[in-house]
Amino acid sequence: MTAQEKTALLLFGDQLGPHFYTGHDEIVLIESATALRRKPYHRQKLHLVLSGMRHLAAEMPDRVTLVRANTYREAIRELNRPLVAYQPGSAAALKMVHDLGVEVRPTPAFALGRDEFTAWAGNRERFRMEDFYHFQRTRFDVLVDGSEPVGGRWNLDTENREPPPRRARLGVPEPWWPDEDDIDAQVRADLDAMDLPAVGRDGPRRFAITRAEALAALEVFLRDRLPHFGPHEDAVLTEDWTMAHSLLSVPLNHGLLHPLEVVYAAEDAHRSGDVPLASAEGFIRQVLGWREYVWQLYWHLGEEYQQRNGFQATEPLPEWWSELRPGGVRAACLRTALQGVRDHGWVHHIQRLMVLGNHALQRGYDPAALNEWFITSFVDGFPWVMPVNVIGMSQHADGGVIATKPYLSGGAYLNRMTDHCGGCWFDPKRRTGERACPFTAGYWAWLDRHEERVRGNRRMVRAVQGLRRLNDLDDVRVQEREREIF
Ligand SMILES: Cc1cc2nc3c(=O)[nH]c(=O)nc-3n(C[C@H](O)[C@H](O)[C@H](O)COP(=O)(O)OP(=O)(O)OC[C@H]3O[C@@H](n4cnc5c(N)ncnc54)[C@H](O)[C@@H]3O)c2cc1C
Ligand code: SF4
Repeated sequence: MTAQEKTALLLFGDQLGPHFYTGHDEIVLIESATALRRKPYHRQKLHLVLSGMRHLAAEMPDRVTLVRANTYREAIRELNRPLVAYQPGSAAALKMVHDLGVEVRPTPAFALGRDEFTAWAGNRERFRMEDFYHFQRTRFDVLVDGSEPVGGRWNLDTENREPPPRRARLGVPEPWWPDEDDIDAQVRADLDAMDLPAVGRDGPRRFAITRAEALAALEVFLRDRLPHFGPHEDAVLTEDWTMAHSLLSVPLNHGLLHPLEVVYAAEDAHRSGDVPLASAEGFIRQVLGWREYVWQLYWHLGEEYQQRNGFQATEPLPEWWSELRPGGVRAACLRTALQGVRDHGWVHHIQRLMVLGNHALQRGYDPAALNEWFITSFVDGFPWVMPVNVIGMSQHADGGVIATKPYLSGGAYLNRMTDHCGGCWFDPKRRTGERACPFTAGYWAWLDRHEERVRGNRRMVRAVQGLRRLNDLDDVRVQEREREIF
């Protein structure tokens, strides 16, 4: 759009960057009291949403009207004027704006448009991120020379699977950290006064939530941390909660950075010689590959996908999990991950996938409830980001639409990739007895329960053969069925 737009633009709290509002004279933001209390959101997530909207309103007082109302519907009805909006990040919000007569336009939040994705998807029933990622690299001319990948390979992941170093911290420079201001203080006071059903601890704001902050966080990441991003991407250290990760999911998901500006900046950092190819490629794959892929598939696969439950897992989430109470958890890996969620509303990818997701899979937690838990408990959690990550990747509840095998692992993997096991009450090598590692024993118990279903999967053959060789399977079965201590 080139001419100034006269119809007011309704922006949601995850649409706060200039690629949304440039060219619009009048912007409306709504703080809905009902939306804040509808679910048990993490306290720091609520803080980020309010802080982001209020900062934008303060930066552009002549252009932004911040409406405080009970519900979005009430606010829009009271405004009683034509509004335009960009496609929001959930099917429920899209339906609401449609119902209220708001004109909805395609979102500028992602690199690839929905039409192009639909054309790429064709009549595929199974989706492999790697294929999509090659398409994206070529489509947006990122790390390619002609039609060939720079360095000769599309994916350098084999260089990015190092176990953690034998020290407490990775030893990379600190991420950019925000300084809170008066707006944050007011947000904190308002949230305290609202008595919301929030979970998690309040704490200093840890994530960029204005455009200027997002640019600063990006700059520091590219300069100081991207060179170290690759090798230990899959490793976990108890004392180093950020490792070399970018902490950019919050500013990205709040629309403060455009994914292509992030991707091109990472490519430039590599081309200028400051960043190894494996690190730049690994990071670009996350943003241009995974992130775009999960957004597109959220819409492409629709709401039915979110109800899939291929392993018929129906266990409700235990309260110590959903209420973020890790105090009684003995498993060091699980306790550390839950503490991270409680204290920051954020843990890094491997903790989400291989600790939290793996535990939930082994214990048969209901995938839809788990999906919801990830949305509400993480500061970067939004409905569009979750189904592929939770229903598909971590729970394999979709029967293999996204991944070729479940992300299931025992204590041996966690012992190799984390520093947790040495100080843990459990023993990763034991599968029976008081000190049997719940991940090791849980691995075999899960395979035993689902052997029928996974037997035909080529990538599970060795695991199933291993199961048949166990001489204490009956004991494992009973022990894990009755397990109460994690
Ligand atoms: C079970 C599960 C739940 C997850 N929940 C979320 C979530 O609520 N919000 C979220 O943004 N990501 C989620 N992810 C993906 C990923 O774990 C986070 O994006 C990442 O940990 C955020 O930290 P970071 O910004 O430091 O990421 P980095 O490791 O620095 O990666 C860079 C960026 O790549 C993007 N990215 C990487 N992997 C993914 C992915 N699988 N899906 C989407 N984007 C990706 C993110 O925007 C991230 O900021 C989830 C993954 C799993 C397995
Ligand atoms: S021994 Fe098992 S429960 Fe303990 S940290 Fe290692 S993998 Fe986790």
